[in-house]
Formats: sequence, C-alpha cells, structure tokens
Amino acid sequence: MDDEVWPVAGVDYPRTFQEFDSWFESEESCRDYLVRLRWPGGFQCSRCGLKGEPWVTARGYLHCRRCKAEISVTAGTLFERTRRPLRDWLLAIWFVTSQKNGVAPELPDRVDMDAQDATSHGTARAR
Ligand SMILES: [Zn+2]
Repeated sequence: MDDEVWPVAGVDYPRTFQEFDSWFESEESCRDYLVRLRWPGGFQCSRCGLKGEPWVTARGYLHCRRCKAEISVTAGTLFERTRRPLRDWLLAIWFVTSQKNGVAPELPDRVDMDAQDATSHGTARAR
C-alpha cells in the first residue's frame, strides 16, 4: 500500500523536518529507503543475482532467499561502519542536501551525533 506514496529514493527528499520525521519514523523505513536507493529496480542478490524481496533479520541484514547470502544494505556506503541508527545518518545527509538547495533548517536539539563528520562524508555521496 505504502509503495504507491513512497517517494523515489535518490530523487525525492523530505522538504521539511516534519516530512523527514514521517518518512523515517523507524529504522525499518530508513532501511527501506536505502534499499531503494541501492537497488532502484528492486533488491538483487550480489552473489547469485536473484531478484526479489529478501529476508530481513532483526539486525537489519538482508538475506537472499535462494543462496542465503547475507547482504548489508549499508555495505560500501558511509553507513557501513557505524552503529548509529540509520536515521541519524539520513538526517545528517538530509541537512546537507537541504542546505545545498538553499534551505537551511536549524539542527533539532534531539540530533545527537557528530554532524561534522557525517557532513564531510555526506557531501561526496548525497546529491
Ligand atoms: Zn543469492
């Protein structure tokens, strides 16, 4: 159901913090977004090439339904080594993106992270 209203990853970004909040209300929704970003045509196993919805474990790893390969949605991205919630990173990237578009929202107090670090990496990837 939600698929129809879900924005296109890599094309659509939240325009306001309220919008961000509703898009990325959970780790699951963050991960969904990253999956769409990484596999715009749908998930595809990097080992056997199978296309289709993967299993998702509690830790947030994706598993191929055929060869059982474990695939992290964040492998090879700036999210890879972090144990921070994906939401924190998406938020940092969103701020960078928003600012490039001429919008400079204030960083909400609730964001507890090293935004400097996130933004210095984020500018290279998030556009
Ligand atoms: Zn596979």
